[in-house]
Amino acid sequence: MAANFIDYVKIYCRSGKGGAGCMHLHRAKYLPKGGPDGGDGGRGGHIILQGNRNHWTLLHLKYQKHVMATDGGKGGESRSFGKDGEDKIIEVPLGTVVYDGDTGEFLCEVKEHGQKIVLLKGGRGGLGNWHFRTATNQTPRYAQPGEPAVERNIILQLKVLADVGLVGFPNAGKSTLLSVVSAAKPEIADYPFTTLTPQLGIVSYRDGHSFCMADIPGIIEGAAEGKGLGLRFLRHIERNAVLLFMVPAITEKIEKEYTILLKELEKYNPQLLTKARILAISKCDALTEAEMKKLQTSIKRLTTKLGITILPISSVAGQGINELKDALWVELNKEVNQVIEISHAPIDVTVIEHEEQIKEDTPETIYLNEVDEEWDLNKYKGIGWDE
Ligand code: GDP
Ligand code: MG
Repeated sequence: MAANFIDYVKIYCRSGKGGAGCMHLHRAKYLPKGGPDGGDGGRGGHIILQGNRNHWTLLHLKYQKHVMATDGGKGGESRSFGKDGEDKIIEVPLGTVVYDGDTGEFLCEVKEHGQKIVLLKGGRGGLGNWHFRTATNQTPRYAQPGEPAVERNIILQLKVLADVGLVGFPNAGKSTLLSVVSAAKPEIADYPFTTLTPQLGIVSYRDGHSFCMADIPGIIEGAAEGKGLGLRFLRHIERNAVLLFMVPAITEKIEKEYTILLKELEKYNPQLLTKARILAISKCDALTEAEMKKLQTSIKRLTTKLGITILPISSVAGQGINELKDALWVELNKEVNQVIEISHAPIDVTVIEHEEQIKEDTPETIYLNEVDEEWDLNKYKGIGWDE
């Protein structure tokens, strides 16, 4: 994989312990038998995963070996609540798949920007003795301890997910372009199939923006029928927002080659044709001035005919690269392209209401664990006994 492309991390996570409830009997000069007034302990912090579309890799988590939330505070007298522990939020790129680090069990996939998935719930705070007063026991001398913390090793793995997918026959110059516009160092050679696994590169754009470009192994004619390596990898472009077609300038028949590529995509999944497309004519440095002029003319003609942006580029000479980035950026910032669902393992989670107010456009928070049973008031009777 490309330099700095981190797509796998393992992290030890631990939620916070619930704070203990308080055992306290109110005493005052004028109120000798004020009764129990021990407050509840605070909730321990959750461990939460949150999707963030500004992250492209798991690089920021490379050295993050532990993530631990803080414990809830103890309850106090006068029925005062303990402080809730601080939640820990792990931000991940969209398309991050989460597995149990010990069993390998699939836990969930983070798909939406802003979506929160509570991986580990913090322990609930214990109830203070105020809750335990009854007609027969006016002075309960016990309070609940908080629930224990939970721990789990998790594996985060990133699916290939890119804004721009390169589509072209082998030798079109896809890997070379990727190496020029990003820090990725894909293998480059002038024989087919040098690219065996998809390569991703982060392309820096103006004003600190960036987008992700994926070089997908060459699609050859018949790839949709399983010929060559195409089929195995066609899958990866299903999620790309913009498809960047590449056809070398030396080809006499730009239109024909482009049409074959389109047909291959269509055969595989017709929905792919609903994605935005840009056509780059690569290796323009290899043309003579006269040939370049001719190319410009046919670009004009084809732009109208095919209804897409066509740009002459040369990765080697650095020509037209900025214009290409501009064009891609414009497409990426147009209305969000239709998302094509690809098959994935079902998310095995229980969805319950978030405790806080959910804003209308914020995706629902998902809790990974089962909904807990009600606190059994008597469960801890005696444990926190304090006299
Ligand atoms: P891919 O199969 O589409 O990834 O193509 P590569 O990037 O591996 O390039 C195939 C061949 O074309 C290599 O020999 C490159 O050096 C050459 N090539 C790529 N881009 C350019 C370019 O802009 N100009 C010229 N003259 N050759 C290029
Ligand atoms: Mg290549």
